[in-house]
Amino acid sequence: PELAAVVANGTIDVPDFPKAGIVFKDLMPLFADGAAFRRVVDGIVARYPDGFDVVAGVEARGFVVAAAVAYATGTGVIPVRKAGKLPRKALSATYALEYGEATLEVHEDAFIAGQRVLVVDDVLATGGTAGAALDLVERAGGTVAGFSVLMELAFLEGRKRLAPREVHALLTV
Ligand code: 5GP
Repeated sequence: PELAAVVANGTIDVPDFPKAGIVFKDLMPLFADGAAFRRVVDGIVARYPDGFDVVAGVEARGFVVAAAVAYATGTGVIPVRKAGKLPRKALSATYALEYGEATLEVHEDAFIAGQRVLVVDDVLATGGTAGAALDLVERAGGTVAGFSVLMELAFLEGRKRLAPREVHALLTV
């Protein structure tokens, strides 16, 4: 099957999670299927023929994808973490949620200046998380080589919010 179908087949729609009215896309079955997981990781790598120097993953599901992409390409992983988890001095970016706000952090010395960073996550929804993550990478001295997700929820228009930065999604729904 096409890559988009591999992602679709590995996803379960969970109504009313994390709250009423939201249909959560659960990609755990995709992560649990070795053949499918390898295909999507290889699919991300293939999208960047010019390569990248390091992979940044957004906590927590982005870590899973980032580690696999990094191993496949012989690069390393930089964690973009939720507030208060990093042990050393960190930069932080706060973004709005539907109710309230959230903060992501990265170590201030996480990147070598000019290092080409591929940023990955599992799902792009409103783009708030991705916007904050890309911001942090740039503020920490990295150069964003790309932003890649397994699934994009197009109706939430995250791609628009991230423009002119390019977004790559294996499946857009
Ligand atoms: P955004 O900030 O774009 O609204 O939300 C994206 C972030 O929330 C990502 O880190 C992603 O893991 C998580 N997320 C939001 N909605 C979903 C969903 O339906 N399924 C999954 N697996 N993650 C989601």
